[in-house]
Amino acid sequence: MTARVGVPRSLAYYAFYPQWKTYLEELGTEVVLSPPTTKDIIDQGIKYTVTDACIPIKVFHGHVAALIGQVDYILIPRLVSIDGDATLCPKFLGLSDMIKASIQGIPPLLTPRLDIRDGRFAPMKAWLRVAKKLGAGRQKAWLAYRKAVQVGQYYEALLANHMLPSEAMLAADKWRASWPKKRPLSLAEARSGIASAKASKTPMEATATSRQVQLAVVGYPYMLYDDYVTCGLLTNLKSLGANILTPEMVPAKCRKAQAKKQPKYLFWHYSNQVIRATYHFFEEKMIDGLIHVTAFGCGPDAMVDKLLELDCRKQNRLPYLSLCLDEHTGVAGVMTRLEAFVDMLVRRKGDLR
Ligand code: SF4
Repeated sequence: MTARVGVPRSLAYYAFYPQWKTYLEELGTEVVLSPPTTKDIIDQGIKYTVTDACIPIKVFHGHVAALIGQVDYILIPRLVSIDGDATLCPKFLGLSDMIKASIQGIPPLLTPRLDIRDGRFAPMKAWLRVAKKLGAGRQKAWLAYRKAVQVGQYYEALLANHMLPSEAMLAADKWRASWPKKRPLSLAEARSGIASAKASKTPMEATATSRQVQLAVVGYPYMLYDDYVTCGLLTNLKSLGANILTPEMVPAKCRKAQAKKQPKYLFWHYSNQVIRATYHFFEEKMIDGLIHVTAFGCGPDAMVDKLLELDCRKQNRLPYLSLCLDEHTGVAGVMTRLEAFVDMLVRRKGDLR
């Protein structure tokens, strides 16, 4: 019988789902994704977590609970370091332990420890161990891993080309479906696919000139792209006529280039990504304003938020809005603040002309 592996639609899902899905499906398992976040999922998450946990951790618990009874395994990688530079927030490091301790009756967890600082091949070895647990042979696992890495690179290129994760995931699926069935994709074929993803024009770019204001919306991907938690923030901003840029739209090499200019090195991967992407927007003079979406109860955000506020002041007092979201945030309250902010940006832009 085909094993069913559950993936919670939260936290690292937004960065890695196409890669994980490819790997697990190529191993011959069925991937079951938890449904989009709803009030019910958040309520479940609140039930299982301590009250002072940040909202993304509560949401994650809710997504795990939604998979119980549907799957044979749940995938919760222990993400330690992705770039060899910083580590992820401690809550990511202890995520699987937290889940095991707080939710009873969960299926066995698949928890590969992903730490690039252990060597270039360490993540691959961790994934090969997952394949062994799922009963797949070494050769199959190696081919699956190679395909998964290629899909991951393609997905990243689409994000850097201004696609939102939901659009880029569909496009990555389509790309994978177009591969020849009888042989693995050659490296040259994979590279040309990834290069064309980088070069293609997206709807957002095509409409950029007709937008009124250029707005950077920064924050952790699991906050920015969860429509329920953000009360549809990105869609609402687009409907107000803003052209939106997010950290994932800045190519990795540009974010890396900003690392040297960062006055305060932060210990956590996603916090650094937010700061570096923002510096890129500043340097390229790409934005009329900045919105920082911060999670209630997030330790690292306390520092990131203050740094961004001070940095905006240094950028000729660039308008800055800090939007702190939790499980009680209401759509009307968010919309009022967004409308006021965008209105102010439009006026300011007119005055500066
Ligand atoms: S970085 Fe902040 S929001 Fe993200 S998991 Fe850690 S504490 Fe929560």
